[in-house]
Amino acid sequence: MRFLTAFAFISLCSLSFSQQPEENMTKDGYLIRVKGGLKTVRINIHFMLKSDGTGNFNEKNDGNGRPYSGYDYARDLVYYMNAQSIQNVQLNIPEGNEIPVLEKNYRYVLDAVYFWRNDSTYLYNTINYAKQGRDKDSVMNIFLSHGTANLGGHASSVSTVSHYKYTENRSYWFSYSGNKAKGSADGDLWTQALNTSHEVGHLLGLNHTVLQPNGSPCPGGCKGGTINANCDDGCADTPSAWEILDANGCTTHPGCGWSGGITGKIDCSNNLMDYTGMFALSPCQIEKIHRGLENGLKSYLQCAALSDDVSFKNIGYPKVSYFGRNVQIVDSRIEYKEKIKIYYSSSVELNNFEAEAGTELEIILDNECSF
Ligand SMILES: [Zn+2]
Repeated sequence: MRFLTAFAFISLCSLSFSQQPEENMTKDGYLIRVKGGLKTVRINIHFMLKSDGTGNFNEKNDGNGRPYSGYDYARDLVYYMNAQSIQNVQLNIPEGNEIPVLEKNYRYVLDAVYFWRNDSTYLYNTINYAKQGRDKDSVMNIFLSHGTANLGGHASSVSTVSHYKYTENRSYWFSYSGNKAKGSADGDLWTQALNTSHEVGHLLGLNHTVLQPNGSPCPGGCKGGTINANCDDGCADTPSAWEILDANGCTTHPGCGWSGGITGKIDCSNNLMDYTGMFALSPCQIEKIHRGLENGLKSYLQCAALSDDVSFKNIGYPKVSYFGRNVQIVDSRIEYKEKIKIYYSSSVELNNFEAEAGTELEIILDNECSF
């Protein structure tokens, strides 16, 4: 095998973001302050395969023979999750509301990709977080396991101090494969990303707004019922099922299920934290995410990892991203289409580094946490 010594595609770029607090004034004079600007959360993607290596994406192809690997899929999944984080839309209920549409100002970065070949952890609800979770205090772990039902998942914790942070999601490969067979260009990756954005939304501290924890509709309380306090998501600007039903004469519950928000049905919540296939977040929800990431969840941020001086040996898959202040890479060789990113805040030094043709190394300047 031939290697091109110390040659790689290297690009230097600087991500600029505001160091100043951003202030947003609503019409009511309610001040939302998003301190510290952009926050980027590190995530791992785990593909759960059968013991014989079938039944999901693998290191080289999509499990159906197409040259689209699990690494490719994981990168695209995160790309779409970020597209959903970059956008925000007006909450559609209550009708005609003037709740501000704020920048969400959070993103994701793919840290590593893992492939597990084990029949006992292949099916949905069988993963073993204790053994299969990686870098649990600094990276949120996302497991993609098998199912033939609709897309779905569960999240380990909505606590903003807990470091028990993972989601298990089902039927992504099944959905991708079926949609590809029907001619979809990317297997409808957008919807798989939306499901992931929702589940990670829980890890970042958000509850459902009109659905109970297990996804069933919160009671509306019409016709003499009582409000169920367990259904309160802790945000005053996300209307409760009770309020919405009350406003529409108890005709339509806002937890309409998948695609309810997309088709724009009146009274179907388009909030990311309901299962309607949309991604709106209220100011309170965004505030919650930022407060959590500035405090108990800070160690999950890319910027937190940029404050240490580090030295790495033998870099490469399964990790796709490396972080540090002064970063030293020694005795490393990247090969077979590996695409590696190094994020640094001060300097990067490569010693005895080789890159096989067809690989990529990207070195990206970023800042440490400014809050
Ligand atoms: Zn949920």
